[in-house]
Amino acid sequence: MRRSAVLRRVIFTGTLFFCWVVFFGSQSFSQHEKLRVNANRIKQRIMELAEFGKTQQGGVSRVAFSEANIQGRNYIVSLMKEAGLKIQIDEAGNIIGQRKGKEPKLPPILFGSHIDSVPNGGKYDGALGVIGAIECVQVLDENGIVTRHPLEVVVFTDEEGGLVGSRAMIGELTPEALEVVSHSGKKVRDGISAVGGNPDEISLVMRHKGEIKAFIEIHIEQGSVLETKNIDIGIVEGIVGINWWDVLIEGFSNHAGTTPMDMRHDALLAAAHLIIAVNRVATGVPGRQVGTVGRIQCEPGAPNVIPGRVVMSLELRDLSAKKINTLYEKIQKEAKAIAEKTKTKISFTPIDATAVPAPTDPQISKFIAEAAQELGLTSILMPSGAGHDAQNIARIAPTGMIFVPSVGGISHSPKEYTRPEDMANGANVLLFTILKIDQ
Ligand SMILES: [Zn+2]
Repeated sequence: MRRSAVLRRVIFTGTLFFCWVVFFGSQSFSQHEKLRVNANRIKQRIMELAEFGKTQQGGVSRVAFSEANIQGRNYIVSLMKEAGLKIQIDEAGNIIGQRKGKEPKLPPILFGSHIDSVPNGGKYDGALGVIGAIECVQVLDENGIVTRHPLEVVVFTDEEGGLVGSRAMIGELTPEALEVVSHSGKKVRDGISAVGGNPDEISLVMRHKGEIKAFIEIHIEQGSVLETKNIDIGIVEGIVGINWWDVLIEGFSNHAGTTPMDMRHDALLAAAHLIIAVNRVATGVPGRQVGTVGRIQCEPGAPNVIPGRVVMSLELRDLSAKKINTLYEKIQKEAKAIAEKTKTKISFTPIDATAVPAPTDPQISKFIAEAAQELGLTSILMPSGAGHDAQNIARIAPTGMIFVPSVGGISHSPKEYTRPEDMANGANVLLFTILKIDQ
């Protein structure tokens, strides 16, 4: 009797507590549902940042570690201070703006992107993720809202040169990577020193599983899916894996005038068939996989000589490593048939895989979808065909990515453009998502 009474009391108290959490939990988010980012401020700051490394074509050349990059970083630090963030430059040169939470022992929620660009790039790639992240903190600050979790706005070092800062954060920036010469002409090692990092202590940057509550990045789509479908927000399901091969086709060089058509071993003819086969395989199954032959060299390369040797590239991308493998097997099968038909030899050599597929966190994607819906925005799930710092952080923390439309699908170009309202939509979705994760 007594035991069941205790049990009943425990159940009753537990139920009360559950109702309290549900009621006040939803209550505290509903208090925030009127919050909105300042669209004009985002646009203005994007333009101000674009002054650093501005090109005549209307884009930016702000490659990592360049003078323009350093000036841009200083500008971003000034905005972070204005938003009340405490600044720290970590050993990899990542800029981290910290904001205390009500419960300092909780792991921080991270969000941000990068401000380095490709040579002659655009104003929005990376920049939106950083300016949008600072905007979210500033709105919280202006409304006197303190989250439970600490918040950290991150500006990753040298994203365009190989995700340098985020690789350091997951403990995978190798000593060799530090010796690579970056677009700026400086070695990565020297660049990191130039922006206030310490390349000899890179391992201190590393964070472990459980140390980050979540990471979220807003980014321009860099493709035309959202614009074509007239959708406001892309919820990234994952960042695709990329596999590369060198394809060697060996035939036999001979006189193009005296060798009859049926006695040839034409390597370039085999390559032509194989390029078409890659396209057929990549489009032959449902899904959003892509396959590309982007480089081809033919020897000896004379109009009157039958090509004897071709080296070409093969690239496959998909969210699933298994799918990439299946496509590759199909291409190999086609290659075997082509080699027989053209009397050539075709072989594939894998090149050090550039990236493994990085799925995002389904719970965070759900929060992003809810946030979009509450803001009256349309959204779809989609893969990211381009690489991002998020793909690294996804390996140590629950990660989400928010895409906004790129006009004309153009990116890595001075013509890159994203409308101010779309930038604000993305930042509002980020703000709501952070608050949802915080509960
Ligand atoms: Zn980017």
